[in-house]
Amino acid sequence: MLYFDHNATAPLSPAARIAWLEAQERYPANPSSLHRPGQRAEVALESARDSVASILGASPSSLVWTSGATESAAAVFAHLAGVSRPGSEAWISALEHPCVQEAARRFFGERLRILPAATHGTLDLAALRELLQHPPAGLPAAVALMAANNETGVLQPWQEARELCAAVGVPLVCDATQWLGRLPAKGLGVCDYVLGSGHKFGAPVGMGFLKTPAGGGFHPLVVGGPQEEGRRAGTQNVAGAVAFAAALAEAEGMHGQISGRLGWRRSFEERLVLELPGASVLGAETERLWNTVAFLPPPLADCRQRWVVRLDAGGVAASSGSACASGKEKPSHVLAAMGVAAADSDRVLRLSSGWGTTESDWERAGAVIRGIYQRFGAPNAPKRA
Ligand code: PLP
Repeated sequence: MLYFDHNATAPLSPAARIAWLEAQERYPANPSSLHRPGQRAEVALESARDSVASILGASPSSLVWTSGATESAAAVFAHLAGVSRPGSEAWISALEHPCVQEAARRFFGERLRILPAATHGTLDLAALRELLQHPPAGLPAAVALMAANNETGVLQPWQEARELCAAVGVPLVCDATQWLGRLPAKGLGVCDYVLGSGHKFGAPVGMGFLKTPAGGGFHPLVVGGPQEEGRRAGTQNVAGAVAFAAALAEAEGMHGQISGRLGWRRSFEERLVLELPGASVLGAETERLWNTVAFLPPPLADCRQRWVVRLDAGGVAASSGSACASGKEKPSHVLAAMGVAAADSDRVLRLSSGWGTTESDWERAGAVIRGIYQRFGAPNAPKRA
């Protein structure tokens, strides 16, 4: 099976696997325990925190281990709702992952403002600038903008958004889930809050972090113990943290390969657009993650047949939009924000590769797609050889 669904979950990376197994063996104790095995576990946990913080360019004390980005998002908005001026809004981009949307809605209710996106799939920065200059209900408790979109791979102008926000003292929440492990993480540490999740880049599922402003107080969402300096109760997952740090460090060492991998993806896209009538790549005109392509293929003759199911039968694991949105009839909010018609968005395919994906994997996936079109494509769409 050609696995092209890394944006949903990536397989465990070799470094993470070794680190996880070793840590399970070597640190069987609770890192809060005062005996020596406990202390050794704590040292391993803190060394993993130091490593991730240094990769992000953040202070170790600003990092809180969590179970993943969904928990980090819930924790951030619970905290912000607890500390912000009564009545203040949360502003989030129209492109955010459902975990950010729903957490903001849960804790801010009606006081949620959606920032518009431009049709090529990035936040409309001019609209954010204008709103920050003339905030309709006062400055918000925070602005949330992801670093890279999970459905399209489109890179977001988070650095510019952070500068605009910092100039007026508004914190930026950056969901870096799809950026981490794919593009250099340095610089993310300047964002006030950063959400990260290990299973998108080779660390075990169930391991993530939240970067908070260093030294600031934090209203914990998960209560019941003093772990993580009172910011997240519960016994820490030492082996998970060690594996997370190992996977991130391993991925950071791969960045020299990015331009080659962009080339593989570009060739895949060019051939598809040339050979499948009416096919288009979403966000083609803007910068995207090297690993992701979201494209709209021509319809299949039997409109009940789904491309993603045909691909699975052909040996390619891909996805249609967000994994969280699959199975729902509701069209993707990201594609809607980019102006994709609801009737078309159902057909959009997302292929997301990993560091282990080869050029020939991209070529074989392209051949499977072309084969499906030749066998099952709608007869009214002109077929090309
Ligand atoms: N944010 C983005 C951009 C994602 O793609 C995902 C997962 O699909 C999440 C957050 C949620 O991550 P987790 O599975 O760690 O809760």
